Amino acid sequence: MTIPIDRNPNPTIDAQAVEQGKLSNVHSDHMFIAEYAQGEWRKARIQAFRPIPMSPLALGLHYAQIVFEGMKAYRQTSGAVAVFRMEKHHERFNKSLIRMCMPTVPYELFSQAINQLLQTDLEWVPPGPDAAYYLRPFMVATEERMGLHESNEFMFMVVGGPFKPIYKRPLKVKVEQTYSRAASGGVGAAKCAGNYAGAMFPTRLAHEQGFDQVIWTDSVNHSRVEEAGTMNLAFVIDGKIVTPALTDTILDGVTRVSVLHVAAELGYQVEEREVKVEEIRAGVRNGSVSEAFGMGTAASVASIGSIAFGDEIIDLPDTEFTAATRIKKTLNAVRYGDSPDANNWMYTVE
Ligand SMILES: *Cc1c(COP(=O)(O)O)cnc(C)c1O
Repeated sequence: MTIPIDRNPNPTIDAQAVEQGKLSNVHSDHMFIAEYAQGEWRKARIQAFRPIPMSPLALGLHYAQIVFEGMKAYRQTSGAVAVFRMEKHHERFNKSLIRMCMPTVPYELFSQAINQLLQTDLEWVPPGPDAAYYLRPFMVATEERMGLHESNEFMFMVVGGPFKPIYKRPLKVKVEQTYSRAASGGVGAAKCAGNYAGAMFPTRLAHEQGFDQVIWTDSVNHSRVEEAGTMNLAFVIDGKIVTPALTDTILDGVTRVSVLHVAAELGYQVEEREVKVEEIRAGVRNGSVSEAFGMGTAASVASIGSIAFGDEIIDLPDTEFTAATRIKKTLNAVRYGDSPDANNWMYTVE
């Protein structure tokens, strides 16, 4: 498959700034776009990054038939550019799309869209450590229609740009006891836009109280741990890596499954099971919980420094030599091409 490229006549690339890791959270010069109508994908192309025309009655704008992905391309030590676990992200994209009554995207179209976009904007991919080109594939319902209806028309787009997580001290989080991100039977396991709008208000309250993130709990009685903000969660309990087992209220994170794989390879015992808030509270108090960390594409692995349970804020031990750091280092070595890609996780752009 070759996707036509309509080059940006006014590129803004500052290759030196990218090289020096000075850019983050900005978009590159190009984007991918394809349109779906009459049951098929058409007009796939790479074009200048620019606003997209859309009817004010586009169904996605009213009823949130919108799904997205987030993944990263790394500039490897050899100079090659490679995407981490593209197939896994594609698989999850399609799962989310099915849940939201949207058409799936064939792997060929997904991978070529990303391959061609990265080829066109190769100079926008920053070198490590920690920096990467963040890719945002997404789909929006575009059919113009008054009234609630499943859309028959969609746009599938991919945008992206250089991204570097800001260095942060270990996160301060609070266990959410009032609001919920997802309810059983709902859409918590889909990466659909509405989930994030709903999370903004409780997250804002947490920020106002001095926390970085909330730990989401089950919506029935807030007694089970689910996720942290937009990351999956893991704890080190008596030396084992413990993470909440996947349910339909937890997003199936690509970082999560990769961390679990690497942790097992490093010799850790890994447990996926129900995790009770009370178990974590007791464990951080008595020291059996020695670490807590978040896992997600944006921050990779992010250590948690303290957890608030209501009015009680408990600090976790502050050490440099943690399971989280070991795991992150091992993952990064694969991402940046410094150790063999034994599991075939990297998709090299060519
Ligand atoms: C995207 C996301 C994650 C992390 O998934 P990754 O594939 O690791 O990036 C976790 N939780 C939520 C709610 C998310 O949206």
